[in-house]
Order: sequence, then structure tokens, then C-alpha cells
Amino acid sequence: MDYAEGVFYQNTIKIVEEAANVINCDPNVLERIKYPRRAIIVSVPVRMDDYRVKVFTGYRVQHSSTLGPFKGGIRYHQDVDLSEVAALAALMTFKCSLLSLPLGGAKGGVKVDPTKLSRTEKQNLTRRFTSEIGPFIGPSKDIPAPDVGTDPQTMAWLMDTYSQEQGYAQPSVVTGKPIEIGGSHGRMGSTGLGVIFTAEKALEKLGQKLSGATFSIQGFGNVGQHAALYGFQRGAKILAVSDVSGGIYSAAGLDIPDVIRYVSEHKVVKGYPKAEPISNEDLLTLKCDVLAPCALDGVIHDGNVDKLQTRVVVEGANGPCTATASRRLAERDILNVPDILANGGGVIVSYFEWVQSLAYFFWDEEQVNTKMKQIITNAFDRVWEMKTEKKVDMRTAAMATAVKRLEKAMLLRGLYPR
Ligand code: GLU
Repeated sequence: MDYAEGVFYQNTIKIVEEAANVINCDPNVLERIKYPRRAIIVSVPVRMDDYRVKVFTGYRVQHSSTLGPFKGGIRYHQDVDLSEVAALAALMTFKCSLLSLPLGGAKGGVKVDPTKLSRTEKQNLTRRFTSEIGPFIGPSKDIPAPDVGTDPQTMAWLMDTYSQEQGYAQPSVVTGKPIEIGGSHGRMGSTGLGVIFTAEKALEKLGQKLSGATFSIQGFGNVGQHAALYGFQRGAKILAVSDVSGGIYSAAGLDIPDVIRYVSEHKVVKGYPKAEPISNEDLLTLKCDVLAPCALDGVIHDGNVDKLQTRVVVEGANGPCTATASRRLAERDILNVPDILANGGGVIVSYFEWVQSLAYFFWDEEQVNTKMKQIITNAFDRVWEMKTEKKVDMRTAAMATAVKRLEKAMLLRGLYPR
């Protein structure tokens, strides 16, 4: 498969082209940013628990390093392919640019259903994948992080494998590590917290407070759980949450710490006794103030966008709205905080973690969260300014802001050889 074959990649490029048009971007810059710089495909042979060897396919796509080392997560999911990873890598470039971070964009993935792997199999897979992409990553080259299907433990195995092969400890090769081996306070909840900070800003624009606002949250992984928790702690009413097993709903609002306790015991939200069941589809069309899709891409599409009954969509996931659905949201006057802004809290704190790992000097959680809030809300304000000035929707405004910074840097660095 070519990376440009997937709909997600094509949609991403379409948004980039529209944004470039808004800011009259240099055509030579636009031509370059439509393609990743390099794409690495590896075979990952894994010793399974029954001693058989299974080979999985892994990817690392490095989109741009104009602004700094490549940066982006690693995803384990059965639907991973080259085109999806390339789209996600491009989004990382624009996310880091929008947030004014000194980082480029990359993404990795292995086509595997991680729920079907034992802990040993997942460790074997992670170590071999790390070894295969080893020559292309490093503290000043490309710094991976967690994404869908990976977690701090996965990052610890990655850090260990890379360090073993280099011969000494290299904590700054990866972010999203456990605190004990150089991770940052606040990294675990950072993406969810950023979702709440941007939701609060969006509500403020509509004259509403976060406290008392109703939320519907799709996805109860790391991002969804933390968004729900931080929203709940700040007085928002979380009406519904869901995961692959289905959803749960309470008109009075869910007791999120209690739901999290239930999930840590039962693995899924299904069966939670103090709420009614709701399907993932009904959760998306629930009447609420904020809908936060925090799972996978493409869940808001032509078929359901007109049924949405929310004032704001805050994209905790990467690419949850298709291009046409996104346009329709703007027509319907639903404020859509796009992924590269709404879920930027994760990579902002990854940046802090990388800096702390390089300096061997650590910050406390309050420092991390205060600085993250400053960066993400400043970015929100820059996007709002662009939206107002150019009279475009928020997604186009966010992408235009990102492309503008990248364009300046690319023109300053020039093309090698000329
Ligand atoms: N996977 C996350 C994202 O999509 C985090 C990436 C990172 O921290 O490098 O933003």
C-alpha cells in the first residue's frame, strides 16, 4: 500500500492544502509538506508463548524534522497500515508547529491486536520492533511516545532495549516513560487534561462555564479516562462514557472515580451497575454541551454528523471527524476544536519530559500542568485570532497557524541541495 492511498491521509492533505491557501503559502513549501520525509517498514518476528514465531509488520514514518527532532507516538492496533501511520505522522508535524514546540513529526505503528498478546509476547514485540527501528531513533533524532495500544510499560521496554544496544542508559530516547526511569510527573494525564483546558476555552467563547457543562466522552483509554476525571473534578457533568464494549449513561452525571475503579477491576465499562447502557453511536448523538471523541479516527462522518446535538466537539483522538463531517460541523455552527490543538497536551508534556531527561533535572506536577496550560491556551488564542481574521473554521485556522510557522522555518533553512 502506498501511504497516499488511505482516506485519512488524503483528508489530512486536503486540510493542509486548504490551510495553505488561506495564508498564501509558498507553493514549494506546500509541495514538500504533502510528503513524509521517510517511511520505514520492518518485519517484527516474535516468539509467542507456544514457542512458535509470528511475524508482524511495523512502521515508523518520519514526516518532518524542520523544527527539531522527529516526535510522535507508537500505536499497536490491528488496523494499522502505512497510510494511517503517515497521516498521523503529518498531524504530529502540524501539532508541534502549532504548539510552538522545537520538534518535528513522526508516528510508528505495529499491525497487531495487543489485547490478544500476553505480557511476554508484547514485551518481545516491543523489543524487536525497537531494535529494527533503532538506527533511525535517538534522543536528538526521533523520540517515540505512547499512543493507542501502548503505555508507560511499553515505553520502559523501548528505553531499555535502546539503552542495552547503545551500552548505557538513554532515558531521553522516549517519552511517556514511568516516573521511576525518568518519566515526567503529569505525562500520564496530560492529553486528557489538555482536552479539558481546550474545552473550557471553547465553552468560554460560547459564554458558558466548564462547571455545570454536560459532556459525552467516547473512548475510555488513557485520554478519555483522564478527560472524564479532570472534567468531573472541575464540576462538569459527565453524562456518558464508552469503550469497545459499549457505553454507560447517567442523566444525573457519572461518578467518574467510581467508574475508573470499576474499569480497573473489570477491564471494560460494560456492566457498570450505577448507570444505564448506551451504544457508542447513541453516545455520539446525545444532547450535551461538549462531545469529546477520544478513541479512533473517522467516528464522526456523513452518516451521523447531522444527528449530533452538541455545542462543541473537542477532538481527544487523532482524526475523529472526516473532512466532510468537519465541514458540516462548521455549517451547523458546532464549534470544533481540532485534534492538533485539543489533544496537544500529550506532546507538550512529552516535550517537558524530553527536556527533563536531557537535563537530568525534574519538575513537580504543578509546574508541568501550569506550563502545559499556558502553551495550549496560548495556541488556542492564536488559532482563534486566525479564525477571526481569515473567517474560517477552527480546523482550517489551526492548520493555517501550524503551516505558517513551518513555512517560515522551511524558507529560512532552504532546500538542500538548492
Ligand atoms: N501519541 C500522542 C499524540 O498523538 C503523543 C505523542 C508524543 O508525545 O510524542 O499526540
